[in-house]
Amino acid sequence: MEKKIRNIHIIINPVAGIGESILPIINASMKEADIKWEASITHRGGDAVQYAKAAVKDGVDALAVYGGDGTLREAISGLIGSEIPLVILPGGSANVMATELGLPTDLKEACKLLSHGSLKTKTIDVGQFDKHYFIIGISLGFEADVVKGADRKTKNKLGIFAYLFSAIAALKKTKKCVYHLKIDGQEHEVQGFMCLITNTGNLGFSNISFDKHIDVSDGLLDVVVVRKANLSLFKLVIITLIKRERPDNLELVEHWQGKDISISSSPKQSVQCDGEVLEKIPLHIKIIPGAIKVLVPKRMDKAIE
Ligand SMILES: [Mg+2]
Repeated sequence: MEKKIRNIHIIINPVAGIGESILPIINASMKEADIKWEASITHRGGDAVQYAKAAVKDGVDALAVYGGDGTLREAISGLIGSEIPLVILPGGSANVMATELGLPTDLKEACKLLSHGSLKTKTIDVGQFDKHYFIIGISLGFEADVVKGADRKTKNKLGIFAYLFSAIAALKKTKKCVYHLKIDGQEHEVQGFMCLITNTGNLGFSNISFDKHIDVSDGLLDVVVVRKANLSLFKLVIITLIKRERPDNLELVEHWQGKDISISSSPKQSVQCDGEVLEKIPLHIKIIPGAIKVLVPKRMDKAIE
């Protein structure tokens, strides 16, 4: 039996969303569910961490976040170590975690699940390097160049298409390199144009996963090296999208799983973590199994079956 939520704190990123009037939607569903709610607005990076910590101190029954994956990552950093469940109210240009957990991408629908008591608790893993936490993943090379190329202004204007245009530019820009990996004590040296160290498997804009074996609750990070960007890779991506399963092709993609991962590359490539560009490399990355409780729809654990 899930604990009844009586009071909730909502962190709102005012930059997120598609211009909908969010407060009336939230207010109506909280009223219907008889939930007392307070909200705080983020103004700069780091605010959501502090608000989440304050909500934990106040002893709320749940913490909700309206924003994209960046705001979510900050809120989770402030929640780690507490038992307070997280409610995701999708509002970003990319909602990878909401999609991964089978949550609706529409705010009204997400609020309805909460007010109708149609959510259950699921524990998810969180990644860590130094004192930083991440929920989606870290990548080197192509994807990091895509993130670098999609700035806030373009994202506001074009949404997910900002990434598409940036991807076309990055295809020309990204150079191959050699990745030096150490995964749970095993060393690997592999050439590629992109390396993902990921907690989630979906592509962020639909229920399509690039590998159905990637699980946000299995206590493992997935390390995927894409070796070449050529027509065969394009074909592989299309087959994956149609069949919803990636056929093995070691010449194109290598895949490991682990709990403790070190990575560097020569020459140096761009690095991003949960959509933010990082300058630091080499990285030593670990997973914290079951670090956070999240409320997900009762009917399905994961949209990808
Ligand atoms: Mg996993």
